[in-house]
Amino acid sequence: MARVWNFSAGPAALPQPVLEQVREEMLDWHGAGMGVMEMSHRGKEFTGIVEQAEADLRELLGVPAGYKVLFLQGGATQQFAQIPMNLLAGGSADYLVTGSWSKKALKEAQRVVAGSGSVRCAGSTEGGGFLDLPDPARLDLDPRAAYFHLCTNETIHGVEVPPDYALPTHAPIVADMSSHILSRPVDVSRYGLIYAGAQKNIGPSGVTLVIVRDDLLGRAAPSVPSVMDFAVMAEHGSMLNTPPTFAIYVAGLVFQWLKAQGGLAAIERVNAAKADLLYACIDASDGFYRNPVAAACRSRMNVPFTLADGALDAAFLAETKAAGLVSLKGHKSFGGMRASIYNAMPLDGVRVLVDFMNDFARCKA
Ligand SMILES: *Cc1c(COP(=O)(O)O)cnc(C)c1O
Repeated sequence: MARVWNFSAGPAALPQPVLEQVREEMLDWHGAGMGVMEMSHRGKEFTGIVEQAEADLRELLGVPAGYKVLFLQGGATQQFAQIPMNLLAGGSADYLVTGSWSKKALKEAQRVVAGSGSVRCAGSTEGGGFLDLPDPARLDLDPRAAYFHLCTNETIHGVEVPPDYALPTHAPIVADMSSHILSRPVDVSRYGLIYAGAQKNIGPSGVTLVIVRDDLLGRAAPSVPSVMDFAVMAEHGSMLNTPPTFAIYVAGLVFQWLKAQGGLAAIERVNAAKADLLYACIDASDGFYRNPVAAACRSRMNVPFTLADGALDAAFLAETKAAGLVSLKGHKSFGGMRASIYNAMPLDGVRVLVDFMNDFARCKA
């Protein structure tokens, strides 16, 4: 069996030991005589799986007391709607726009409020092509905002909010961390709500993680459907209805794998080494490869880059594929290439890519 080096932005590569364990437990989970996909979500086996997954996640992220952890469905895109439905309460919200995903979040929130509240753009880097973050001192904030929304890693544009970026203090911070959650330690207490679709850095698609501070629960209007109401889902331990059981189980195995790697501080060192190696290759290529994002906010997880001669794109993609390096084609809104190097991508995979890129540049320049 030949496994490729998979640079997909999502659904993305999973750690191989996790896949092997899933294969091992597929027909008979821990002597239950059945696999996890076939189990009742109310049974004691699956209840144990969810409780362990939540405990491991809380430990990894250092989630303080006073926060609920929810395992929901619908993806991060559903959260673009669900968050204003739950938190706006007829008021207003501030949105920072630093790439395609935060722009979509703002647009969807505006659609949801439609007259019963207001959702505003507090700052945007779109005019400059989403290559930098705005000066936090110059945001246009509404002192009465119910929350401030941002995307802390823009998957398409490769812009990551560094930990020392001064977040506003006028309102609870709501962060879309879909594509870099668990890639580095994070101070959860800075946030009112953190959310992430699973298929980048957590597990299979189908489960969406929401970490929400208790005081933000219970603000949804009575017309909000119960499956969409965070307070109702929290009250039922994310099991008002059938949860995405298999995705939660695999996510739980990923959490255990992360703990075995030494937790988030350890995986951060690997992630920094991977990103440094790749950006150094791009920057040392005399313009053959180019990443235009400001150095301070270059993403460690998603590295978009272009070739100076776009006519070479097809050859680059064909030759990388032949070398077992796949899913490097850039997003259509950015063009060029993108290497997503989430937790499951080992340093060796990035070394193989960088060696290829250096050889390719030498041959074609
Ligand atoms: C992938 C992604 C989304 C959308 O996730 P879905 O699960 O497809 O809805 C939203 N935000 C960010 C930052 C993403 O990377």
